[in-house]
Amino acid sequence: MELFNLKDTGQRVSFSEALQKGLGSNQGLFFPAQIPKFDDIDALLELDLVTRSSTILGRIIGSEISQQDMADIVSTAFSFEAPLVAVDDNIFCLELFHGPTLAFKDFGGRFMAQCLAKIAGDRPITILTATSGDTGAAVAHAFHGLANIQVVILYPKGKISLLQEKMFATLGGNIRTVAIKGDFDHCQQLVKSAFDDAKVREDIHLNSANSINISRLLAQVCYYFEAFAQLPEDKRDNVVISIPSGNFGNLTAAMLAKTMGLPIKHFVAATNSNDTVPRFLKTGEWAPAPTVATMSNAMDVSQPNNWPRIEALFEFDYLDKDVLSGQAVDEDYTQLAMKQLAQVGYVSEPHAAVAYRALTKQLSEGQTGIFLGTAHPAKFKESVENVLGQPISLPPELAECAGKEILSVELDNDFDQLKDYLYRELNIQP
Ligand SMILES: *Cc1c(COP(=O)(O)O)cnc(C)c1O
Repeated sequence: MELFNLKDTGQRVSFSEALQKGLGSNQGLFFPAQIPKFDDIDALLELDLVTRSSTILGRIIGSEISQQDMADIVSTAFSFEAPLVAVDDNIFCLELFHGPTLAFKDFGGRFMAQCLAKIAGDRPITILTATSGDTGAAVAHAFHGLANIQVVILYPKGKISLLQEKMFATLGGNIRTVAIKGDFDHCQQLVKSAFDDAKVREDIHLNSANSINISRLLAQVCYYFEAFAQLPEDKRDNVVISIPSGNFGNLTAAMLAKTMGLPIKHFVAATNSNDTVPRFLKTGEWAPAPTVATMSNAMDVSQPNNWPRIEALFEFDYLDKDVLSGQAVDEDYTQLAMKQLAQVGYVSEPHAAVAYRALTKQLSEGQTGIFLGTAHPAKFKESVENVLGQPISLPPELAECAGKEILSVELDNDFDQLKDYLYRELNIQP
């Protein structure tokens, strides 16, 4: 597979380079030089999730990863299901939250981790990443126990929920967690300083695991095929998919799936009040407003970092602009959607509720609607209980870690302290 940098089209890289680099020069995103189009969609839809996904990913990525390795990677990474659940005659929820950290980020995170482990082979590598909550858990669980890979996760001390902290700071082994006395931006800056320091980068074999990594998007393409495979055949012709969006990785993956031949009719870019994209689609003006806090906090993003990839799909004529429309949903309608879903017997959380509301606003007669369930309702226990007035029980994954001890160390927001810590912990001579 060849990819190029959207900000420096002369920079061409292989899949494994893009995987390890994350971002290209000038902070540019990597984009596939060719996107394959499959002419055997019906046959693909007959396969099971793991077989189909390793076939699809094998075709996209090509000979850099052998067929056998790809089969191993995918069966380890996608070790849980993505059920399509009917909530109404013509509306379905694709539940992507049955992985170990109960959010769709497990798909991309686990595939990325398995690919890195295969490509690194016996070379030691260190993953250094900053998290404001959910990504940390997905990354930590995805890499936990992998040989030759050390993971260091920085997060702002006291600024994430206790349950979130427990999901990644209690694992131990090759997962080290550092509570920084500062905010999320400080954590990101420390990570950036480490990558900017050539000696540190070499000495500790730094690798990126950030959310714009192309491997994550390729993994996410697979569950859109899974959604169609579970749809009754007479409902596959006129499908509208509504995607609760923050950084727009999920929507990019859906649009890649269509480019590859999956017959999705229309996409709804569903956002909360951070509505840069829906406004842009309406007015043509890119005008990010200051980010506001909402119940669907994983989508509190006003400058979505995957958007240039969606623009590229239009610009290179892979897709027509009218396949996409936007829909912003405010807090009141998010709550209303949660209540409406509960009335038909479906307990949901704020992110999926935004997508459901956006879908019902735009779905017309004769169409089949799918909205994505991106997180387990128990992950947003408090707001779900507040809105629905009924208790939510913790699934075993959350209940188990809630009782464990947090293993993090605390550091000041100071790069020298972090450097000392890294060399000491990883047993490397400065
Ligand atoms: C990350 C996240 C989103 C947003 O996904 P993007 O790919 O960034 O658009 C939506 N819902 C939940 C629960 C998330 O964790």
